[in-house]
Amino acid sequence: MIQNSDLFALSYLVATVLFILGLKGLSSPKTALRGNLLSMVGMGIALVATLLNPQVTTYGWIIAGLSLGALIGIVLAIRIDMKSMPQLVAALHSFVGLSAVLVAAGTFLLHRESGELNGVLLAEIAVGSFIGAITFTGSLIAFGKLQELLSSNPLVFKGQHYLNAFLAVVMFALAAVFVSNQDFTLFLLMTAIALVLGFLLVLPIGGADMPVIVSMLNSYSGWAASATGFTLGNTLLISTGALVGSSGAILSYIMCKAMNRSIFSVVLGGFGGEAAAASGDDSKAKKGVKSASVEDLAFMLENAQKAVIVPGYGMAVAQAQHAIKEVVEVLTQKGVDVKFAIHPVAGRMPGHMNVLLAEADIPYDIVHEMEDINTDFSSTDVVFVIGANDVINPAAKTDKSSPLYGMPILDAYTAKHVFVSKRSMKAGYAGVDNELFYYDNCSLVFGDAKGTCEQLVRALKNA
Ligand code: NDP
Repeated sequence: MIQNSDLFALSYLVATVLFILGLKGLSSPKTALRGNLLSMVGMGIALVATLLNPQVTTYGWIIAGLSLGALIGIVLAIRIDMKSMPQLVAALHSFVGLSAVLVAAGTFLLHRESGELNGVLLAEIAVGSFIGAITFTGSLIAFGKLQELLSSNPLVFKGQHYLNAFLAVVMFALAAVFVSNQDFTLFLLMTAIALVLGFLLVLPIGGADMPVIVSMLNSYSGWAASATGFTLGNTLLISTGALVGSSGAILSYIMCKAMNRSIFSVVLGGFGGEAAAASGDDSKAKKGVKSASVEDLAFMLENAQKAVIVPGYGMAVAQAQHAIKEVVEVLTQKGVDVKFAIHPVAGRMPGHMNVLLAEADIPYDIVHEMEDINTDFSSTDVVFVIGANDVINPAAKTDKSSPLYGMPILDAYTAKHVFVSKRSMKAGYAGVDNELFYYDNCSLVFGDAKGTCEQLVRALKNA
């Protein structure tokens, strides 16, 4: 006969399988919607199974927590605009970290009262708390940087790495002593050091390395949830946390490879970030740039055989994806071969540009990743850059003092003509001037990207 506990375990297993299938679906834009739906069904099953677990004896606090969480979630989801999604994700990671710390402290106090503490549980409590604390403050700093409350430049000081290493050693030592003597003061001290460590590890990350730390924090939040699962004896939380932790770690690795960065330098808190901090040369800003009208751009585009569009963060700010779709439609009707080129860190979160282009129903087969399209630029007549900056900055190849140095870029500068839609001469996220804007083959089309694209559609249709 099937027992309740069997049904419970089976529901968790089904939920885990649905999460795995969901993640698999998210690996391609074509299957992403199905992936999301599968994960949502999995989460629904997990929630119902957890609420019906016989260990849950009272619902008062659970309903209060769920209602408050749902209310905050609904308000945030309605209010947040797409451009602020990365900050929202960073803020949500910080909640995961904080809850891991609170669960660890709560579990310790509860089991101390009932005298059920043992070495394994204490180790789980310590690990859950310090990973959670690092995730909490690290994510807060990432939020501050993405929201531009803090400078996006790396904040570095002398002896920083030694201080980090020292604090890490003290934190581990306190954790070990806490496990052996169960002193809550040591637990609090260890957690306080982990909180400081979270700040210190993310502060020195800046400019081009931020995308990696965003996905690293995603990974940390998964491990924090997994550690919480061990503490609570909840197998679903263990497996779900491990899925988030490992997929975040794999994504960080892929991004590090794409950006030619060492994953250790990022994890250990900005080793090699000093060059970035020292940069910021504005001597080139004094040189002249060429500006072009939308009509000039329309003329060049409709007479091109091959055109490549490079979207960046500015497209997200302007919400220009629907207008650019119309541009593509008109150009395609006129016989121009149009493609999109996507840099792995364009925008402010992994996959940011793909999400926006998919939202506008731009066909996937004309959207190309950097490694597939980079060799095409030299045979392209016109590159139209919409709000991208750092990801096309040739200084990443030529200027050793640049924070972008070493990051592969989209080789837009090798095309016959490059037109860049932006509002001003302001720098991109990394805070450095873009050499490309001063090249002979480059012209700037000043104005909001959405307005520029809408004007461009009219100019192309009237031509
Ligand atoms: P950038 O941030 O380098 O540049 C954005 C450009 O868009 C600027 O030139 C800005 O110029 C322009 N812009 C902003 N608003 C508008 C608008 N309304 N209309 C027209 N133009 C606009 O973007 P990229 O996508 O090139 O590079 C991404 C950067 O962000 C990289 O440095 C990356 O490391 C970093 N990053 C990426 C993350 C990720 O996961 N993808 C996460 C965190 C950071 P102006 O103000 O003059 O208009």
